[in-house]
Amino acid sequence: MNIHEYQAKAILSSFGVTVQQGKVVDRVEDAVAAAKQLTEETGTGWYVVKAQIHAGGRGKGIVTETGSHGVVLAKGIDHVEEKVKGVLGGHLVTKQTSAGGKKVNKVLIAQDVYYPGPSETSEFYMSVLLNRATGRNMIMYSTEGGMDIEAVAEHTPHLIFTEEIDPSVGLQAFQTRKIAFNLGLSGQAFKEMAKFVEALYRAYVETDSSMFEINPVLKTSDDRILAVDAKVTLDGNGLFRHKDYAALRDTSEEDPTEVEADSHGLNYVKLDGNVGCMVNGAGLAMATMDMIKLAGYEPANFLDVGGTADAARVEKAFRIILKDPNVKAILVNIFGGIVRCDRVAQGVVDAYKSIGEINVPIIVRLQGTNAVEAKTIIDNSGLKVLSAIALKEAAQKVQEALA
Ligand code: GDP
Ligand code: MN
Repeated sequence: MNIHEYQAKAILSSFGVTVQQGKVVDRVEDAVAAAKQLTEETGTGWYVVKAQIHAGGRGKGIVTETGSHGVVLAKGIDHVEEKVKGVLGGHLVTKQTSAGGKKVNKVLIAQDVYYPGPSETSEFYMSVLLNRATGRNMIMYSTEGGMDIEAVAEHTPHLIFTEEIDPSVGLQAFQTRKIAFNLGLSGQAFKEMAKFVEALYRAYVETDSSMFEINPVLKTSDDRILAVDAKVTLDGNGLFRHKDYAALRDTSEEDPTEVEADSHGLNYVKLDGNVGCMVNGAGLAMATMDMIKLAGYEPANFLDVGGTADAARVEKAFRIILKDPNVKAILVNIFGGIVRCDRVAQGVVDAYKSIGEINVPIIVRLQGTNAVEAKTIIDNSGLKVLSAIALKEAAQKVQEALA
């Protein structure tokens, strides 16, 4: 689950990671009061107004309606309202959004930490993530912060360092010192960086996150180390251990159909093809998507209806798939292990009748317990549903349906 920068910074801060302070607002009218309060707390006289959307590249991004960037400096309290107006409520287009951009519902008014000027500061890159090849967490970092890390990786890969953490002993002090050293720090900044890395890693582990990306980590002119940006992905599979994180979810940032599917317990991911698929079990879903590709088509979605493929769930799943106007055929591929195929077949027939007219061909492949009875139910239903038992036969029928 992705969260906003302001939420990520609050989490980091609670673990002792030093962050650029700020106040989040969702109304222009609240901006000046928030900025004044920030000045009382931090002494800052200048502010940065930062669009809160689930996408990076905001600084270079453009708000369609106003032409403003998504991260802008306000040089004094008198400029705050005008800068906020340029960002809040608009649509921010960045390298990571679609062409239409993302609606900015909240802005973070943060302290300017690049005093007395950006040339007096240094920007670093730091992320914490799992190295799947070694099965260990690693800290990836670079002296080339603030900019596009993909470009650094491509043109100057030797400027990106990694530090792997042995899970049996955790992050060691010598490692945090090595990171500070490789970043070219000394004196107070060296000590601050070592502390920063230690707190950051602890936050990553204890929040059950799958990715932390802090770009930039800033060394201020007075040798403080701060997280200026924070991109945190919480591991959805760990959320049950952190009930309070549910409140951090912003469904307005997610695909509406995926949100709806999720509310029915269906695991749905929209894709770009035109063959919709409804499958039970993630492995079978992957195999089915492969089969669609082998047949020369592209899947329109990933959809795992889970173990209980009853009429109600099958109907919900059909309705979700049919919301996608690109869908030209639907392949239902269900293995009846615990759930019997004849029950699923009846579910498909009932769902079809309940939805009414479905204008795309449906190919149903049921295999497992009572597969033959299931095929009979489909064939005798009088509906425009093609049945199959073998996977190959189902693939052929998809081809025929789309030919
Ligand atoms: P991103 O573009 O979405 O990655 O957003 P960031 O939070 O990383 O901000 C983008 C850029 O804005 C940073 O790389 C900085 O160059 C700049 N920036 C952020 N905070 C400040 C600040 O306090 N003062 C100044 N002068 N620039 C800032
Ligand atoms: Mn950034």
